[in-house]
Amino acid sequence: MSVLQVHQIPVLNDNYVYLAHCPESGATAVVDPAVSGPVLAEAERLGWRITHILNTHHHADHVGGNLEIKEATGCTIVGPKPDKARIPGIDVELDESDHYMLGAAEARVFFVPGHTRGHIAYWFEESGCLFCGDTLFALGCGRLFEGTPEQMWSSLSKLRALPDETLVYCAHEYTQANARFALTVEPQNEALRARSARIDAARAQGEPTVPSSLGEEKATNPFLRADKPELSEALSLAGVAPERVFAEVRSRKDNF
Ligand code: ZN
Ligand code: FE
Repeated sequence: MSVLQVHQIPVLNDNYVYLAHCPESGATAVVDPAVSGPVLAEAERLGWRITHILNTHHHADHVGGNLEIKEATGCTIVGPKPDKARIPGIDVELDESDHYMLGAAEARVFFVPGHTRGHIAYWFEESGCLFCGDTLFALGCGRLFEGTPEQMWSSLSKLRALPDETLVYCAHEYTQANARFALTVEPQNEALRARSARIDAARAQGEPTVPSSLGEEKATNPFLRADKPELSEALSLAGVAPERVFAEVRSRKDNF
């Protein structure tokens, strides 16, 4: 059992790549390397030797650095079994309920289709860290490129069941735009309004809004709240099934 040290690297326009380091064993994973150069440079600067890549899904802004980092470090590439054909250099294939040891730190894997059909998320329980790629964002969720609203609602429901103090390490800084949209869905949500003000202040200082806590997502993220009466009533969908409310929120966001 080991508590990870997590280092956040902003790359491209709005992607976050993470280095997750197990101090006990020295193992270091790169989560979703969009690119290789800045990731290798940051690991070098920190004195962390990259031993693994953890991929959540196949999109280029999550696997683009895979082969160059593997070439440079000889690391093991870990990714979703249901999407193994689309993960460059994959060595270890994981699926729902699998456990994987990153050195002395244990990850539990969730299969969370919706954004893509093979998406997975990694939960390090002792560290309280969730690496969820493009499934759950701060105040948002991924677009449904390869899945249905029902699938995505079920995927998000799995993540929502984790403890409130879980830190949500998502892969993009989309929070400020997500907040503007969320306020159109639930304008009376006081926790959301307060959070939105904090987000604006952080962004004005150029600070990241990620990670957030799962507790604040449960209270403010409209995509996690499709089964809350406050939200369905705000949309004039009282009594409608949560996956249909979720579908409505997602389609409004797609057209926002
Ligand atoms: Zn994606
Ligand atoms: Fe992405």
